[in-house]
Amino acid sequence: MMRPVALAILVAAPWSLWAKLSPLAPPPDWSRLEDFHESITRDEFVDQLDRVFAPGGAWREWIEIRDDRAVVRTGSKPLELRFAAGVKKPAPRFWKARGEFAPTPGKPLAGVHIALDPGHLGGRWSRLEERWFRIGKSKPVVEGDLTLSVARLLAARLREAGARVTLTRSGSDPATPLRPSKLAGEAASSLREKNLPATPVAIAKEAERLFYRAAEIRARASRLNSKTRPDLVLCLHFNAEPWGNPDRPVLTEKNHIHFLVTGAWSAEELAFEDQRFDMLRKLLGGTHSEETAVTLRLADSMNRATGLAPFVYRGSNAVAIAGRNDIWARNLLANRLFDCPVVYAEPYVMNSREVHARIQAGDYEGTRMVAGRKRPSIFREYADSLAEGLIAYYGGR
Ligand SMILES: [Zn+2]
Repeated sequence: MMRPVALAILVAAPWSLWAKLSPLAPPPDWSRLEDFHESITRDEFVDQLDRVFAPGGAWREWIEIRDDRAVVRTGSKPLELRFAAGVKKPAPRFWKARGEFAPTPGKPLAGVHIALDPGHLGGRWSRLEERWFRIGKSKPVVEGDLTLSVARLLAARLREAGARVTLTRSGSDPATPLRPSKLAGEAASSLREKNLPATPVAIAKEAERLFYRAAEIRARASRLNSKTRPDLVLCLHFNAEPWGNPDRPVLTEKNHIHFLVTGAWSAEELAFEDQRFDMLRKLLGGTHSEETAVTLRLADSMNRATGLAPFVYRGSNAVAIAGRNDIWARNLLANRLFDCPVVYAEPYVMNSREVHARIQAGDYEGTRMVAGRKRPSIFREYADSLAEGLIAYYGGR
């Protein structure tokens, strides 16, 4: 009677190792990747892994490359993905690339559906999500409120140019029905996974983090992929340097800009079955070239408007794209879960002296003397330069 049980444990051990999941991630449906048979050549597949998605050989433990197929370790039976030999089969997708829109005179964005994702929640959640600071009695700096202001201005510009625009949120209400109080169990297992002590204080903190960083982003992505189905997602953020105590923040002279596309999975991240699946879904979905092409236009336009220096990554968590030092691939939940091309904007250091003064000045029309120079409001500079970049990209077809 004992033998079959022991055998089952032996067989289950390696599979359970390969079936490790990120917090709140559902087990992936690997059969969805069957749609991508013969949609990519062997050389293209390996090149994308090496250059963008899993540089430094991070994929080698999980994917075996044969002449005619890739064999991917999953939580159960391996996935065998056949490469294209001659004519490639089209990869299934709901989004359209730039060349697929019919030009409409005077409406450069006609037919293009753009989703704007104002980063974070803001409002009453801003202290909990650690996107809040205040200097003395000045106006608090709340990233989630700043990104929403930019999204509203940008939406109006894009609609004038003929685009259909959807915002992932219109206020500070979360898209997820989950709340930190419901996530204690998940938080405890997440801490155990990271070999951290699961004290009540640590569990409460981790539950909050899972709420705003995992549950909320998963809820936005699921709605976006199933209902909104846009041609492009633009994730809007403001960057920051470490500010320490939010009631006595550290100000800095540093101010910079960068853009992110999807990629740069590490070997450790690929040990999670859902991340392995997400990486392959993004790679096979063919979004990379579109993400890069549109980001080049957005970066050029915004660099011209802001004059900001690029933020350069020094670690291995990012890889430079298109030979640029202001466009990087990174593996973030908020880009890997969206099925269409995603661009992530990270301009302005909120706790730099200059940006803080510009945020205090608020939104206004035209130009004003702020932080020693006549300039537009930071919200309009952000929104207008992105709108110009999008118009240059889609309008240039
Ligand atoms: Zn942010």
